[in-house]
Amino acid sequence: MADRSDVLIIGAGPAGLAAAIYTGRARRSTIILEKGLTGGQILVTDWVENYPGFPDGVTPVELMQRLQKHAENFGARIETGEVTAIEGGEQAWRLRTANATHEARAVIVASGSVYRKLGITGEGRLAGHGVSYCATCDGAFHVGRDVIVVGGGDNAMKEALFLTKYCRTVTVVHRRHVLRGEKIYQERVLANPKIRMLWNTVVEAANGEKTLESVTIRDLKTGETGVSSVSGLFISIGTEPCAGFAAGILELNERGQIKVGGAMQTSAAGIFAAGDVCDACPRQIATAVGTGVHAALSVEEYLSRD
Ligand code: NAP
Repeated sequence: MADRSDVLIIGAGPAGLAAAIYTGRARRSTIILEKGLTGGQILVTDWVENYPGFPDGVTPVELMQRLQKHAENFGARIETGEVTAIEGGEQAWRLRTANATHEARAVIVASGSVYRKLGITGEGRLAGHGVSYCATCDGAFHVGRDVIVVGGGDNAMKEALFLTKYCRTVTVVHRRHVLRGEKIYQERVLANPKIRMLWNTVVEAANGEKTLESVTIRDLKTGETGVSSVSGLFISIGTEPCAGFAAGILELNERGQIKVGGAMQTSAAGIFAAGDVCDACPRQIATAVGTGVHAALSVEEYLSRD
């Protein structure tokens, strides 16, 4: 027997929780299915200083706890489960997890994204043993040591700055000669005496028996390679959308994101998408929240059509 509600939301990150506040206030019974921790990707950062309304900044944990409480106050129920398939059609969509089947006429996919892998030798084997995708989680293992951050986006900048609290040196390896992302992070990184930039350079291998001992680096301009002794390799090269379960049901773009229209509607009637998983969200907490709210308003309009 399927567990039936008015609305099913996949993902309890900022987009999913914001959507649930609105579907709950519209008096639509709402279940949020979350495979991991409430909060999603935001939890890998240490501090949020650009979410409107928090001029002194806020920890991601506090922000997510507030969003969760807000959604639950209006009746949303969060259940643990990883959605593996979407089935059905306009009259009722069924979401399958390992232990349950849920059914609703309207679905909001807010399943977010996961870290992109570099795909280099040693990365998988040494993940958790020096190779990391989260400085907040693993930075404290490298007190007084030398580490490398790969990437030139906002997240790599934030990771590098955070790691300077613990590490002796932080080397940022970036494949181009310009950074992308917010200028304020770039200024802080370039001004930090503990951070060294290696431009036009890539990491080719993570070396070590049981733990990371060194990385092999290649200069893209000269072709020269060298080995650098480090205890940590923090890979921060963007994310991949978590939309695999929707392939075949929803139209995806070439990057695997769910295509949405102006009302956050997907290619399937009754299914909407919001946040990092869709192609209309610039990957900020505030925009995840905004698209979540937009999707919820569209759900209400859809369910009210009868
Ligand atoms: P991103 O902006 O996509 O940047 C990824 C970086 O990794 C780029 O510099 C890219 O190089 C590099 N890269 C990608 N694939 C690579 C590969 N295979 N080998 C080597 N380098 C590779 O990702 P992000 O930093 O995770 O940020 C994602 C989004 O979240 C962005 O919109 C960002 O603004 C947002 N964000 C915002 C904040 C904030 O506090 N405002 C914090 C974190 C993230 P190229 O530059 O050469 O493409």
